[in-house]
Amino acid sequence: MVKAGYSTLKELISLDGKVSLVTGSGSGIGKAIAERFAEAGSSLMLIDIDKEKIDRLADTLKGGNVDVSTYKVDLSDKKAIDNLWEEISANPPDILVNNAGIYPFKKLEDVDEAFLDRVFDINLKSVFWMCQKMIMARNNRGGIIINISSIEAILPFKNGLYSYGPSKWGVLSLTRSLAKDFSNKAFRINAILPGGINTPGTRNAAKGVLKLQLGLIKDGVEFLSRLPMRRLGSPDEVARIALVLASDLSSYVTGAAIPVDGGFLSA
Ligand code: NAP
Repeated sequence: MVKAGYSTLKELISLDGKVSLVTGSGSGIGKAIAERFAEAGSSLMLIDIDKEKIDRLADTLKGGNVDVSTYKVDLSDKKAIDNLWEEISANPPDILVNNAGIYPFKKLEDVDEAFLDRVFDINLKSVFWMCQKMIMARNNRGGIIINISSIEAILPFKNGLYSYGPSKWGVLSLTRSLAKDFSNKAFRINAILPGGINTPGTRNAAKGVLKLQLGLIKDGVEFLSRLPMRRLGSPDEVARIALVLASDLSSYVTGAAIPVDGGFLSA
């Protein structure tokens, strides 16, 4: 007999009836998160700068029981974020995943204001605006926010990520300060710190590195040799943790920063 008040695992992991907004869902980790959330029963709002990629993903997901809508948004543009929320404010999502991010390498002496602004606009300021809009739109109903930070926020390892690391540290700090103030209003706000995930983004970065900066190849070799699991992770291995954080499996977890990094931060 099932105890009163006891939820089954199937109930705990379910996102049935929920709507999730996932940024950067055209590729890599964001795409994997959208796929797992749809499998768990969530309808989706897919956001990316590249509309074709999210439209293709929407076509593959629409077969199930979930609604999927796509929105082309350049998250570096505050006005575009304002317009998005104006469009969706009547039915704001239950779950927000701030995943979109860029990780361009640059020598310290070559970083100029435009470069720094771009990294901060996409990686940190857009996350701030998206969290602000979500919390205002959901008011006293609460909701779930998952911010994708990085192991680089905690342990700078690769050369040339002088703007990326601080932007991701900002995401972590933002997550914790919002969790402190809004968890008593039915929000749960957490961060994931991926590391060493094999995605189109990291593969493109590796190609650029091979062409341009041989010194960074050494970083890659050193990364793998100090990585306890000695292998890269898959986007789906991050998506599974996102599903735990989005669902009632983690009903008492907020303000947390969870590494999904093959043990990198522990070694
Ligand atoms: P990815 O494969 O490059 O996917 C990121 C997606 O975001 C792409 O579809 C990209 O579109 C989109 N995007 C980029 N700029 C955008 C903008 N201004 N507006 C809207 N969408 C935009 O990246 P990923 O490796 O999956 O990384 C996802 C997140 O995890 C990032 O925040 C990253 O910093 C973080 N992370 C990843 C790793 C890893 O090992 N992969 C490690 C630590 C943290 P385009 O492709 O058209 O630019």
